[in-house]
Amino acid sequence: MTVATKLMLKGGRVVDPATGTDGIFDVLIEDGVIRQVAKDLPVDGAEVYEVPRGAIVAPGLIDIHVHLREPGQEHKETVASGTASAVAGGFTAVACMPNTNPVNDHAGITQFILKKAAEAQLARVYPIGAVSLGQKGDQLAELGEQKAAGCVGFTDDGYPVATALLMRRALEYAGMLGVPIIDHCEDPSLKGDGVAHEGYTASALGLRGIPGVAESLMVERDVSLAELTGAHVHIAHMSARQSIRAVRAGKERGVRVTCEVAPHHFTLTDEALEGPITYDTNLKMNPPLREAADRDAMLEGIVDGTVDVIATDHAPHHADEKMVEFDRAPFGIVGLETAVPLVFDRLVHTGKITLPRMIALLSTNPARAMNLPGGTLAAGSVADITVLAPDMPVTLRAQALRSKSKNTPFDGWTFRGGVAATIVAGRIVYRA
Ligand SMILES: [Zn+2]
Repeated sequence: MTVATKLMLKGGRVVDPATGTDGIFDVLIEDGVIRQVAKDLPVDGAEVYEVPRGAIVAPGLIDIHVHLREPGQEHKETVASGTASAVAGGFTAVACMPNTNPVNDHAGITQFILKKAAEAQLARVYPIGAVSLGQKGDQLAELGEQKAAGCVGFTDDGYPVATALLMRRALEYAGMLGVPIIDHCEDPSLKGDGVAHEGYTASALGLRGIPGVAESLMVERDVSLAELTGAHVHIAHMSARQSIRAVRAGKERGVRVTCEVAPHHFTLTDEALEGPITYDTNLKMNPPLREAADRDAMLEGIVDGTVDVIATDHAPHHADEKMVEFDRAPFGIVGLETAVPLVFDRLVHTGKITLPRMIALLSTNPARAMNLPGGTLAAGSVADITVLAPDMPVTLRAQALRSKSKNTPFDGWTFRGGVAATIVAGRIVYRA
């Protein structure tokens, strides 16, 4: 990554949950590293970025659940377009899922992704490798080689880790390597060919249902196996109230379990499927939008600390792929450019969480969960910074998204709160 010589952020409210900092400070960056956070620093030849009035200087946001689609599905997204979307959404780093084509189950693919990221020079990219070869659920991939190539964790996302035995072995190896196993929790027999949350709305619309227990059964399995192995399991995109209970119970007895929730799961419920656009395929994701009690459980978990991370599960699909009947449409929505407005609007401005908690959920905790650089503005840290604008009015236009794909249910929505600037390694890579 190229590095600006010296950059100073002047006069913003610096909020860093990792160091407990909250106040008006200048931030001096040199050679891509934070040198000093202090009051009234001398400019001393540095390029100056005047922090806009009311803006917040935060450690760079990190999205640990992103599908960049390259290699193999470049019509949906590329590393370049996905990282452009990331920095426009305030994310200085993303971790990308291995369900590409070919699957990222060996070092060559990891190196290819890292090369593309270095060429794009936008957000940092941390590949996540497959747990099993070809994500087929049989043979464990070469986790050690993959970690050496740059993988920061392992998952078969898109699918669950197929069996308890495979999960146990994966946790044992990953534990030795000091990286987490991330699981897309879903019991395939209970999920069946379901396309929406099992409940009143799915019945009314004649859609096949997926019960919340399809998710939580596997969360319970994974928590038990993390307890058995002493290794770290991270539960991806939680959606069911039973899953929150399972994670909370695991944490209470000291199991190394962390979890994430995506913005759509604390914002929307399955009732959205009833209109204004019925059978809107931009409301089809996996796990599905669930009922109000589940959405409320996600909010409760975010407030009480059960939920560690907000991650988007950014899942780009081409318009042609989504423009089919609900049953046949692929699961997933884009999320990188809507996360910050949704978190501000629905969580911070409603008084549910504080600003430091927002930054912990989007930066400090994801860095810790995946052992990544950043997540703090402490001197000596990488100079990855997001300048947040809590009162910025945002009207989302799907067609204006930087992502190659426009599959969002939030087209036309208005929000209070956005991103003023994104800085990676001391270089301003996005400015509103
Ligand atoms: Zn998934």
